[in-house]
Amino acid sequence: MSLDVARRSIDFIFRHAPAESLLDIGFFGGEPLLEFPLIKKITEMIETHPAYSSGRVSLSITTNGTVYTPAISAFLRGHAIKVCVSCDGPPRVQDLFRRNQHGGETSARVERTLLAMQQDLPEVVINAVYTPQTLELLPESVDYFSALGFRQIYLNPDFTAHWSREDASHLVPVYQTLGQQYIDWYLQHDPHYISLIDTKIAVLVRGGYRPMERCQMGTGELAITPDGGLYPCGRLSGSGISQDHRIGSIQDGVDLSRLVAHCAPGAAQNPECIDCSLRDSCMTWCGCSNAFMTGYYNRVGPFLCASERALIQTAMEVYTSLERQLGPTFLHHLSGETLLNSRMERKGKIL
Ligand code: SF4
Ligand code: SF4
Repeated sequence: MSLDVARRSIDFIFRHAPAESLLDIGFFGGEPLLEFPLIKKITEMIETHPAYSSGRVSLSITTNGTVYTPAISAFLRGHAIKVCVSCDGPPRVQDLFRRNQHGGETSARVERTLLAMQQDLPEVVINAVYTPQTLELLPESVDYFSALGFRQIYLNPDFTAHWSREDASHLVPVYQTLGQQYIDWYLQHDPHYISLIDTKIAVLVRGGYRPMERCQMGTGELAITPDGGLYPCGRLSGSGISQDHRIGSIQDGVDLSRLVAHCAPGAAQNPECIDCSLRDSCMTWCGCSNAFMTGYYNRVGPFLCASERALIQTAMEVYTSLERQLGPTFLHHLSGETLLNSRMERKGKIL
């Protein structure tokens, strides 16, 4: 991204964001830290913008952990930039898909970064992606991150992968193993935030997703590409993804009617979801996940349905088990910063 596009992007963000709204501005790639000097300049532009205030704007960066120096560390710390490291797990998981440009392994380097960040930075979260090949290794991956000292672990299925019926049949036992790890850590007074489980428990406790938590693609969420293109979600803006998810540019603004082109005609959602008892707690509304699986923002694929069913079942079992053993303690814990750590949830004071 050129500095000119960066400047106009920042103007666009501040001009179009509703007054008083909180802004989360995140750097992502590719690997954003390959352009560390540029990141520094863009951060300065954001922080010196007339509409900037530290209470309103939160900065974050998603890195693959292959680029990390003392200067980068000092900068991230100095500007309170939250860090998310994309790492899939221990070496035998990480090196399956996250190879460098020469096809070499990245696990040793990323592990060094993770250990250094543990020492240097106040808030680092892990984003681990799992595929049909690594699904059953998820509990091992979570153990690996825990042993490295991480307590905020986001787990995301690769919705672009081909998930067979056979793969889906492993979801319940794998999620239940994660649930048992979660329970064990909690009972050992060492709670871990495991996104798959925490988000679903929170949603179950309050009876469903709230409107502000549902997908706001194109309105509450925008991705800006190096040429100033606007996309409804960061996941829909990467290389290899069809250009036709573009919904405008920083020059011309957002054209929301372009979202309609990716919606299946007829019912607003899958007919089988309309009467499903899990509907309010199910992530049917994630347009990018749906698009990767079915081609349409508003059509859920069989894998997401199976995964959501398995997660809701697991979350209910974990919640019931901890409530039975600890009474309302667990409910109070859910309202704390550790587990409900998204700004939206904090803002909503949901419990
Ligand atoms: S569980 Fe399946 S059928 Fe039910 S709302 Fe979710 S995607 Fe639809
Ligand atoms: S499409 Fe999914 S990932 Fe993207 S903004 Fe919506 S909910 Fe978030």
